[in-house]
Amino acid sequence: MLNLVLFGPPGAGKGTQAIRLAEKFNLVHISTGDILRQEIASKTELGRVAGELIDKGELVPDDVVISMIESRLKKPRCTVGFIFDGFPRTVAQALAFDKLLMKHHSKVSVMLCLVVDKGELVERLHKRGLTSGRGDDLETTTIEHRIDIYNEKTSPLIKYYESQGKYFPIPGMGTIEEITESLIHTIEKFNTKPIAVTSK
Ligand code: AMP
Repeated sequence: MLNLVLFGPPGAGKGTQAIRLAEKFNLVHISTGDILRQEIASKTELGRVAGELIDKGELVPDDVVISMIESRLKKPRCTVGFIFDGFPRTVAQALAFDKLLMKHHSKVSVMLCLVVDKGELVERLHKRGLTSGRGDDLETTTIEHRIDIYNEKTSPLIKYYESQGKYFPIPGMGTIEEITESLIHTIEKFNTKPIAVTSK
């Protein structure tokens, strides 16, 4: 089972690239941000609580996202693997994730980290805010806060995966196609087992 963690700060392009990689390698794409936004759209209690935190640029509590992942992994499905986008985001989530995967006789295969300058991130998030309808992309203070939270709580995961030999930094500053190519190149180099590739 291939378990890819697509990592990087807000605005690094994780969502865009995860969709492309999921299609290329026939993986199930799990985005905790998308799941939370669906909860908000469905007006559930979880969505109400998460929505307030997301709008402020804060993280949703670890136990909430871990149980979301747990229920997704429980669903029986036929797949060669998963691509996790926006998860894990704290060391506590990564530890719980490892335990969870162990229960499924699986583990994280590789962590691909998109590297993008802060100036470019802020510019991209501002641009996305004009069309995405995402409240957390609109205000400069919220954008800056999300980047600070990434640096403080999420970036320590680089060391966590690096110590396991699973950390692969990928330049995230070219065109969408160039970045996809770099990601594919690294995954293919790393993954020696045959994986089902779609015809698209
Ligand atoms: P994203 O779509 O990945 O940028 O996530 C949007 C927002 O959802 C984040 O700023 C967090 O508030 C929340 N979120 C998404 N994934 C997680 C996670 N793994 N842990 C905590 N909060 C998350």
